[in-house]
Amino acid sequence: MSTYTTYIVKRSFYSAMLVCLTFFSLFLLSPPLERDSFSDSTGAEPDHRAADAVSNLRLTFAGDIMAHNVNFEMDNYNLIYDDVRDLLLADDLTFGNLEVPVTDDLPMSTYPRFNVHTPYVQAALDGGFDVFSLANNHSNDKGVKGINGTLSVMKKLGKGAHPWRLLSSQAGQNPQQTFFTAYKKNALYDLYNAEPVQHPRLLTAYSGLKTKKEEDIYPVMIKKNGWKILFLSVTEILNVYDEAGRYVYRVSSIESARQAFLEKITEMRRENPCDIFILALHSEAPEYIRTVSSGTKDWFIRLASAGIDIVWAHHPHVMHPWETVEIPGPDGTEPKQALFMYSMGNFISGQRFRPARDDPGRYREYTGDAALLSVELSKNIPAETGSGKYSIISVDPVLITNYVDPAEGVVVKLFDNSFITGLQDVWQNYYRTRMSLMKDYLPL
Ligand SMILES: [Zn+2]
Repeated sequence: MSTYTTYIVKRSFYSAMLVCLTFFSLFLLSPPLERDSFSDSTGAEPDHRAADAVSNLRLTFAGDIMAHNVNFEMDNYNLIYDDVRDLLLADDLTFGNLEVPVTDDLPMSTYPRFNVHTPYVQAALDGGFDVFSLANNHSNDKGVKGINGTLSVMKKLGKGAHPWRLLSSQAGQNPQQTFFTAYKKNALYDLYNAEPVQHPRLLTAYSGLKTKKEEDIYPVMIKKNGWKILFLSVTEILNVYDEAGRYVYRVSSIESARQAFLEKITEMRRENPCDIFILALHSEAPEYIRTVSSGTKDWFIRLASAGIDIVWAHHPHVMHPWETVEIPGPDGTEPKQALFMYSMGNFISGQRFRPARDDPGRYREYTGDAALLSVELSKNIPAETGSGKYSIISVDPVLITNYVDPAEGVVVKLFDNSFITGLQDVWQNYYRTRMSLMKDYLPL
């Protein structure tokens, strides 16, 4: 647990005790359910690291999961993930920004108003993704129908929807009721899918959309390997600012809205004792620009000082550098390490469907290459307390590229030398130059 959180928990000792007692009684009442059941009871994560990693956590962060027509017209979406699936299944949690509404009773559609159907997202889950940010400028491309459709698909793919939403005082929910409802749904789902081979991977968590426009924004609590991870997805921008936009978790970048958001973050952290707080931020940083402004850096530091530990940002469709930053503790207490990902680029898109073979440095070519960040965290206090001070052990980038396979469509490839040497001669120079251009501006 960070020094900052220690500070908060000390200040709210009695409410923390209440939360602990509530959990304790829940476990007594339901002996078959392990603490990590929402993450681990599916039996569909055989490659994920097990109990020996109780104090360590490996998270992978990707950029935008886009869906242009060349993407959703593919016959087999699983091909997109073939080259990275092992990597994404070997960690504890993989995070992706789903930049498309998912509504089965509307036709699939490309830019400027996206929509896909459930199989597109199921392929991402089967490809290793666990957590989706849903707040971005395309969230309301299909209005309220698209938002409700996305939420119902998320529920269907998930484990009973928001099982660990713990801002009970604000949500007016009884945490005990929420717990059992979610468990029951999960158990029924397990029974229904009795054949393990056919068991689909389930979504662990999502954030960013409301069921009612009057709702406040709430984080979700993800429990994994004895860690309590608070997760929230917000966007600074929308493509359409109509009534439907009020269903999206939006935080305007005007100063008064930012100030209110910082206060809300501190409150969320106080009400939901956690090991780390991850914010998915769909930022208003300009598209296709690869540099980070000083204003953005200042904003991220303010977010971290208010209680965020990892800011995972996206929107420019090109990769930005990332860094770990030491954030002073409140009132001179011990500092914490925060991780800032300023823009994670595209994981998959159709934006570089026709690579400019003779002009690999053209600005649009950068939309087809990015890095996945594999982040290893550890904490030094037994998991039961949920209060270990975390350290960032390593941040390892894995370069990926969107490759247009003539037979299959756009697929994600590990972007290394063996990928390049396996290409036709006419393309090797393009990708060799692309790799060196990526290395020129990123800490690879
Ligand atoms: Zn965007």
